[in-house]
Amino acid sequence: MSRTFEDARRWASLGTRLLTGAADADPGVPSTLPGWTRGHVVAHVAANADALGNLVHWAATGEETPMYASPKERTAGIERGALLPAAELRAWLRDSARRLESAMSALDAQRWRAPVVTAQGRTVPATELPWMRSREVCVHAVDLDAGVSFADLPAGFLAALCEEVVARRAAGPGPGLLLTATDSGARWELPGPHEAVEVTGPTADLTAYLTGRAHTLTTRRGDPAPALGPWL
Ligand code: ZN
Repeated sequence: MSRTFEDARRWASLGTRLLTGAADADPGVPSTLPGWTRGHVVAHVAANADALGNLVHWAATGEETPMYASPKERTAGIERGALLPAAELRAWLRDSARRLESAMSALDAQRWRAPVVTAQGRTVPATELPWMRSREVCVHAVDLDAGVSFADLPAGFLAALCEEVVARRAAGPGPGLLLTATDSGARWELPGPHEAVEVTGPTADLTAYLTGRAHTLTTRRGDPAPALGPWL
């Protein structure tokens, strides 16, 4: 794993700034995510900060406080949040990000190592929380479709995300792929039932492809890159 804890904290702050800037756009307009307006995306990211705050609380106190009460409650919160007046929604995004940041800043080295359980049921040390947050703010800043693209995100973040998504996809079914980043020279391989298809492009485009976002990558023969299933 090439990312460090400090990287993740920096990316989380940077992604928060990008997303907060892009969230000034009209919340009623569709985002790039199917069925979601920008308002849904912003509400989801704000709720995510509160949910990760629950895990920071868990790490700080040892009291088991899960991210969300239930998947149903999580969805309902997004739907409610998306309908808030624009100023209230923006305030929730800003304040929740600030609360999470200050709660994380209050953890000492020992508390950072405390195990917590994510919404997917994975047990991770609290040191993984800044990475989870950076993924949310950086990728959803792009999903808002309000001027931020993957090319605006730090190269180290994109590489770390590609590495993680490739590892996750390698564990499931999917087309065999040989991915090469033209800007960094990084290469990733995904196993598949047939001969691997070569897909080459800038890391930003490979990240969009791997995370299931719109992309323009093609194979060597000029065909569209093979379709991938959902990432998470
Ligand atoms: Zn998300």
